[in-house]
Amino acid sequence: MEDKRLLKPQKRREFVRNAGRIALLLPIGYYGGALLKATTAEAWVWQIDPYECGQCGRCETHCVLTPSAVKCYHQYQMCGYCDLCGGYLRQGIRNINTGAESQLCPTGAIKRTFIEDPYFEYTIIEELCIGCAKCVKGCADFGNGSLYLQINHDICVNCNECSIARACPPQAIKRVPLSEPYLLKEGYGE
Ligand code: SF4
Ligand code: SF4
Ligand code: SF4
Repeated sequence: MEDKRLLKPQKRREFVRNAGRIALLLPIGYYGGALLKATTAEAWVWQIDPYECGQCGRCETHCVLTPSAVKCYHQYQMCGYCDLCGGYLRQGIRNINTGAESQLCPTGAIKRTFIEDPYFEYTIIEELCIGCAKCVKGCADFGNGSLYLQINHDICVNCNECSIARACPPQAIKRVPLSEPYLLKEGYGE
């Protein structure tokens, strides 16, 4: 049977283009907030390298803030708009639907929206995200890796020593220039 998760049909590209989507879930305002800090804060901030993150879950539990300053981002240009989304659905469910029993996210922070048969769009409700990385792992294991974690600089207090960075097994968190505070995944096919 054909694996729809690997399909990247023209229609989806057109959909992304027509929708004029930016690659991030978070609005441009977040960048503005980070740049505003440039005049008052240090020249370096902490950020996660999404290609180094091992989805261990410590971003949820080791931030000094509750909920964590780490949030899930979505690179729409990489997304397969899969019906069987490994980042959204629990493994082994009987029915594919939006019921709480079907969802992998513990806080219901991912919204599933029908686009056209058989494609669905997945949107993060950032206020509900606790940075647990469950969806990131599911997407990495069964999808294209379009979901990934970033430290939101409108929330992060830029600790002198990031407590998540100290606990991060693959040492995926590092200092980056405040002028470029996010480490974004590159899209493809556009
Ligand atoms: S602590 Fe490191 S490996 Fe674990 S989820 Fe955070 S960035 Fe990823
Ligand atoms: S599964 Fe975890 S990281 Fe993903 S959206 Fe939900 S709370 Fe955020
Ligand atoms: S620098 Fe501090 S507030 Fe920011 S992510 Fe790390 S522990 Fe959380």
